[in-house]
Formats: sequence, structure tokens, C-alpha cells
Amino acid sequence: MQVSGVDALLLSVGPDLPWLVGYGAPALERLTMLVLPVDGEPTLVLPAFETARVPESEGLMTLAPWSETDDPLTFVDRALGGASSGRLAIGDQTWSRFLVALQAHLPNASWTTAGSVLGPLRASKDADEIEALSRAGAAVDRIASELQRGEIPLIGRTEAEVGKDVRARIIQEGHRKVNFCIVASGPNSASPHHDTGARVIQPNEPVLFDFGGTTAEGEGRPGYCSDTSRMMFTGEPPAEYLEAYAVLKESQEAGYQASQVGASAESVDEASRSVLRDAGLGDYFIHRLGHGIGVEAHEDPYLVAGNTEPILAGNAFSIEPGFYMAGKWGARIEDIVVATDDGPLRLNNSSRELAIVEA
Ligand code: ZN
Ligand code: ZN
Ligand code: ZN
Repeated sequence: MQVSGVDALLLSVGPDLPWLVGYGAPALERLTMLVLPVDGEPTLVLPAFETARVPESEGLMTLAPWSETDDPLTFVDRALGGASSGRLAIGDQTWSRFLVALQAHLPNASWTTAGSVLGPLRASKDADEIEALSRAGAAVDRIASELQRGEIPLIGRTEAEVGKDVRARIIQEGHRKVNFCIVASGPNSASPHHDTGARVIQPNEPVLFDFGGTTAEGEGRPGYCSDTSRMMFTGEPPAEYLEAYAVLKESQEAGYQASQVGASAESVDEASRSVLRDAGLGDYFIHRLGHGIGVEAHEDPYLVAGNTEPILAGNAFSIEPGFYMAGKWGARIEDIVVATDDGPLRLNNSSRELAIVEA
């Protein structure tokens, strides 16, 4: 905060608050807000009747409960002390209704987003966070392996039916919630964020899976996210598809190998992209290579051309190249990778081969 010239952090709805103190603000109209001045004690302003939900916080922060007829903004003002006329960094996902009300209440304050302070901190995972991310990764790997072994039938069922099975397993495997579950069959696999729907899966076509959730962690600890993509083919794939898939696998491996501490984020994207480009598939890779992951499914750092920031030890991010041929078919392979001083570490370890599924 000192480096960024920030006098206080104000954190409400969104992932910053649970990441910092292990308690998330309910996404409701009653204000919950952590006030953290650069000099001074942190205070959690919250509805009085919700204090019982806060995990043991003795020594971590003071609770400032407001009752139904109080104005919570005066509680925030009081907790800010001298910082109320300073530079305030508000959580990137805090609702504008709270921000606009605060701006009216604190006319002398200037404003910035908390992401500038917390983004780099959250991007650098410690050992416990890497452990939590690998548990989440192993959970979705088990589901990917079930799909690859044909234990979840595909042919003759709609994408939505298959998606429902996968979603149920994400919860069974220890996640608190499902963040997304893409089942994209046949030509739908050419749409990277396809809306899993009513299409019936046919024999002899690719089916793209991309799913993940947020794990259930203990009291006072936030959950961490999983995210993986694997490809099935419902029959014998044509040579053209097999050739493109082999290039994709090589591209994914190149991105993984390039995920070295000190390499620029854009150079990792380029390492993967150049393999597809050299094989004439560059125009079909229509998104960035990857995104950071942690308490949020997408966070810093982003692996994209133009991001010259270096990869740091403890950064966790996806390596997910794909090719998408509109109207025809597509494919993506995605692993979460952690950059360490000993080289990159994959947190997803199910087979990256194209799985031939006959059911
Ligand atoms: Zn995506
Ligand atoms: Zn994904
Ligand atoms: Zn992803």
C-alpha cells in the first residue's frame, strides 16, 4: 500500500476479502466492508446479525457491527480515521452502489482499485495455496480420466445431460461450487466458450470438455479453483483431425516448457502459438494462451501478447492452446501450471492424448 500510495483498502463483495481474512462478504445489499488503513488497525464493518458467521478473528481484525437502522457508511468513515480524506483503494468487484454512496459520503477522498495492491500479492502463491490448487487439480483430473475411460456415456445424449453428470462429479470430488462446465460437441467445439446445450452428441465427432470449480476449504480459509480441458472423440478420428491434434499437443507442451521464472508472460504465449503457426494452424488459435488462477478462476497473470511482465516463482496459470475451425470442429488442451525456481510444475496430470470413446 505504501509503494502504491494507498492510504486504505476497502474490500467488500469479491475474492479479495476471503483471500485476505478467510471471510467473504455475502453478495447482498447490506454492506460488509473490511477497512484496512495503511497505518492503523483493520476493521470489518458488517451487519450485526451476521457476526456469528465470521470465523475466529481475534487479533486479526476488529468487528464493527451495524444494526438495521444504522448507516453503515458512518462506520466505514469512523474506521478510516485520518485516511477518510486520503487515497482509497476499493475492491475491483465491489458493487458500484457501495462505491457511489461512499464517494458522496467521503467527498475529500480520491479513488483507485485494490487490484493494483492485491493483484500482485494474490498472483504469487505460497506453499499452502499451491497445495490447495493441486488438490483442486487432482479432483478434476479424476473426472477427466473417467471421461477418457468412457465411464460417462456421450453418444446419443445431449451436451446438457453430460454436463449435468460432470457438474455433479465436480461437487462429489470436493468442490463447493461449479464455476463452469463446457461440453461442446461436433461443430460446437469450434466455439471456445460454447454454451452447453440441447445438441445430441453423435458418433464420430470431437467433444471438447472444459470444467472447473472452487474447492471447499476449512473455516477461515478461502477455496481455490480448478480448470482443465480435455478432448474426446466418439469413434475413429479422421487423419486431418489427428494431425492437427498432434500439433496442439506439441504446442501445449511448448507452453509448459516455456513457463520459466523470469520469462515474459508474452513469450510463453508465443512459445505455444508459434508451434501452431508453423503448422499453418495459427489463424485458428483465436484467444490468449492462459490466465492466472487462485481464489478466482481468472486472475493475474495473463499470458497474452503485450504482457511483458516476467513470470515469478509461485505464479499459477493455465496453458490452454486450442484450434477452432468455424462450422467444422475444434480442440483445446488445458493444464494449470505453477512456475517454480526448479522449473514449471503441472497441476493437471490426466492423459493429454485424444481419448477415443465408443459409448
Ligand atoms: Zn475460457
Ligand atoms: Zn478452462
Ligand atoms: Zn482456463
